[in-house]
Amino acid sequence: MSLVIMKFGGSSLEDDGKMKLVARKIIAKKNTYDNVVVVVSAPGDTTDNLLKMADKITSSPPGREMDMLLATGEMVSASLLAMALGSMCEKVVAMTGPQAGILANSNYTCAKIKKVNPKKIKIQLAKRNIVIVAGFQALNPRGDITTLGRGGSDLTAVALAAALKANFCEIYSDVEGVYTTDPRVVKNAKKIDYISYDEMLEMAGSGARVLQSRSVEVAKKFNIEIHSRSTFSENQGTIITSEEKIRRKKMEALLISGITFDENQVKFTIVDLPDVPGVAAKIFSRLAKIGINVDMIIQSAAVGKKNDISFTVSKRDIKKTQMELDKTAAELKDVVIVCDEHVAKVSIIGIGMKSNAGVAAQMFEILHKKGINIEMISTSEIKISCIVDELDMEKAVKELHKGFGLSKE
Ligand code: ASP
Ligand code: MG
Repeated sequence: MSLVIMKFGGSSLEDDGKMKLVARKIIAKKNTYDNVVVVVSAPGDTTDNLLKMADKITSSPPGREMDMLLATGEMVSASLLAMALGSMCEKVVAMTGPQAGILANSNYTCAKIKKVNPKKIKIQLAKRNIVIVAGFQALNPRGDITTLGRGGSDLTAVALAAALKANFCEIYSDVEGVYTTDPRVVKNAKKIDYISYDEMLEMAGSGARVLQSRSVEVAKKFNIEIHSRSTFSENQGTIITSEEKIRRKKMEALLISGITFDENQVKFTIVDLPDVPGVAAKIFSRLAKIGINVDMIIQSAAVGKKNDISFTVSKRDIKKTQMELDKTAAELKDVVIVCDEHVAKVSIIGIGMKSNAGVAAQMFEILHKKGINIEMISTSEIKISCIVDELDMEKAVKELHKGFGLSKE
């Protein structure tokens, strides 16, 4: 029996007209596949609005009640969409996340899925019903509702695809798929036809906001093919799949698949640190302890008995990082801390890097030709990131996009 998961984002469900359009798309799918399970996000800005409502009441809402509140958004979508399908004479059942058997831990507002027990869904599918599941929500061992973190409906969709052994998982939004870079910055950015899980994870981790990263991790683990596509067009979107499959299809191996950028970075430099074992361990374990995610780290070669360490963190962590570093500076004499808020990260991503030398050199050359100074560099097997002045970011993205042949002819 064939089975497809269709997940619709909030912008596809924000009014009755869009709900009906979504319903028609579901019916068309059901005419081609035996079973269709639909996962929905909250309509439009509902989740943001619910957060604002809670914020007006208290600055420290209890996690349990917060999740109870947030989960209502997805229930609105699921029930209304089921009504829309029902009014079109379809057999359909709407379910909450707990009813659908999504079981998670008790980490309110960012729970992890522990297990999916899709018994109820299977019973309804056997009765030839379309099943609509409210995304983003689960049941914890205490019998309460938890939510899966922002964008968590993607995760619900992929987890259900794995549990129900779906043929593939479609994720519908208002964009046509994954682009070589943000089309708002580079007008001739192209839609990518196929991208590997690892590239997608690197893209999501370095600034692209198409799919929730955790959902891509789960898709990779269970080898679930994701089709990212638009609700508002019939065009084929981007297929996110395994590297083997992409290679097997002998897709023309592009050197670079995508370029991302992230303005949400700040650079800290600690100058004149004593060059003795344990200093880096001390600094970074303290930052880790207070939950700060450090991205790039560079340590300069020691001059005399001193060296410098620079690293980047997310803008929202500036204050916490500064306070922690001040403590360290007070302990280690003569250390100076410098914070630069005007930086941005530009990254190039592609599995083609694995088998081609000189990609980094090519990137640096492109930036150099435009007089863009590189402040920090980090690399992984399939990604090279550079920190540049934020004023150079857009130029860097445009030039790299052109330089690596991603711009449309
Ligand atoms: N409604 C939730 C959010 O806005 C979950 C989702 O859309 O996937 O984050
Ligand atoms: Mg959303």
